[in-house]
Parts: sequence; structure tokens; C-alpha cells
Amino acid sequence: MEATLSQNTSESAQAALFEVLLYYHYFRLADPEAYFRVHHDLCERLALRGRILIGHEGLNGTVSGPIEATTTYRRILHADPRTRSMAFKIDPSDDHVFPKLSIKLRPEIVTLGLSPEEDIDPNELTGQRLEPAQWAEAMHDPNAVIIDGRNRYESELGHFRGAICPDIENFRDFPQWLREHADDLRGKKVLTYCTGGIRCEKLSGFLRREGFDDVYQLHGGIIRYGHDPEVRGRDFDGLCYVFDQRVAVEVNHTETRRIVSRCRHCDEPSARYRNCAWAPCNDQVFLCESCEESFGRFCGEACREKAARAGNEEALSP
Ligand SMILES: [Zn+2]
Ligand SMILES: [Zn+2]
Repeated sequence: MEATLSQNTSESAQAALFEVLLYYHYFRLADPEAYFRVHHDLCERLALRGRILIGHEGLNGTVSGPIEATTTYRRILHADPRTRSMAFKIDPSDDHVFPKLSIKLRPEIVTLGLSPEEDIDPNELTGQRLEPAQWAEAMHDPNAVIIDGRNRYESELGHFRGAICPDIENFRDFPQWLREHADDLRGKKVLTYCTGGIRCEKLSGFLRREGFDDVYQLHGGIIRYGHDPEVRGRDFDGLCYVFDQRVAVEVNHTETRRIVSRCRHCDEPSARYRNCAWAPCNDQVFLCESCEESFGRFCGEACREKAARAGNEEALSP
């Protein structure tokens, strides 16, 4: 997957004919299988593409489609009493950002991996939701600790200024990480955020059950924060990782914008994300233009040598 970040921001999509939707809703589904079948038919009929998870605890999705299709989809979900209040984060786009449609039934719509007895129902227990403007202010509270509720490869590309970015590979590693760092959080105002808000519903609920009382979450996540006309992404450094072909989107539209990721080779600031050209690796790395020219599109020396040994002429040419 190739991504030219500067060409894929929402700002460049002026005459957008497509939309990318990001949404979730926690609600009790008595019969997830039946809901799955109806939902699958609906998405196929509208020719939407993307990824949707359905479970007894609700719905989690991100899809792309022509505006007529995404508008119909939103209208139908808002006509359903179960998802009437579901918020959609909407990005204009020139095209689809997913190769296909994938809808899956899952025990959890985000996998925190707690046992069924331990699992968090955000409708019963969660952190206090902060709107973008409240969040922008809360971040500057001297007693606040900001926790990035995403994986390392996401926060590396961009994060809120001053946030703690846990070195974890998977959301289900969070409970252990939080327990190990509990002492650092005692007596603090704990703020959590993620891409669209869904992970923090559970994460902040988990923190509250662990005995923390002063817990807050960014309602609607980074994406909504970047869309908010008042805060316009203020104090978010870098870009927001997204799970589609865009790879990353712009968040900060203020004078505080800056790039925080660095080229793997020369360590200069760069938000240029590339896949290693050694196909069995295919790792995503930051790679500036001049390093790609001089070194080739590899994550490191090892892959470059493997590609050379394999006589992979095509991979060697930048
Ligand atoms: Zn470089
Ligand atoms: Zn590699």
C-alpha cells in the first residue's frame, strides 16, 4: 500500500464525491446474527466498502462509499431506534478508501480481551466524556495525565502534545500496562483518547473500575477533535493513523501543527509512510524522499540485502 500523505487529506478533496464514515455505538443486541444478516444486505446493496464489527455489545464500523450511498446508510441507521443517537465522523474523499467490504461477528466490538465476567459495559461504567473544547482546556490542567489509548505504531505518527504513548502492540495489552503504571496515575486527572472514541469508552471504564475516580475521555476521538470548528485540532502533533488506504489524516489545522515522526534512516522529521519493498517484510516505516532515493525503499539494511540476494531488481530501484 502506497500512501502520499499530502494528497490524501480532507482538505484536498474539494469536490468530493465520496465519504468515509467512522462510527460506533454500544447497545445490547439480543440477536447479533440476525442483525448481521440485515446489515450485510444493506451494505452490499449500497456497495459500501470497509470494515464493520457486530457483537452483542453493539456496532463498530468504518466504511467508504459514494455520498448518495453513505447518506442513505446514515439515514437508515438513524431511523433505527437502537442507533438513533449514533454519531458519524465524516471525511470527504475522492474515492473508496477500502478495497472491499468485510463484516464480522465478534464477541467484542473492540478487543480489550477481558473475561466475560470482567468485561466493561460503557453504558454502565465509563469515563466522563469531554467535548473537544473541554478537552483542549483539560489537557493544560497541571494535574492532568494524558494517555494515548492506541497502539505504538499509531501514536508514533501523531499524538496529543504531552501525552504518554504506551509501547504496546495491541489494545488487549492495555489492562496490564495500566496496572503496571497505576502508581503514576494515582491522584491525577486521567485523560484518555483514541482515534474515534470507541476504545476509550472501555479503557476509561476499566480505569474507573480499577479505582480511579477522576477519569475523562475525548468524546468522538481525535477525528472529531480535528473536525471541530472551534479547536481545529489544536495541540495535536503529527497526523492521525487511520485503518484504511489513506494511512493517515490531518488533524491539526492551527499554527501549532508540526510533524513528530522521523525518517527511519536519517532521523529527520518526516510523515512519509512507506511499505518496505522486500515483500516478505512489507513493514510500514517512515522514510524521507532523499533516503528513499539513496537507499531504496527498505526498512533497513537486512531487507535491502535480502532483496539484493534474491536478485529482486525491481525492489532495488527506488
Ligand atoms: Zn531520511
Ligand atoms: Zn523490511
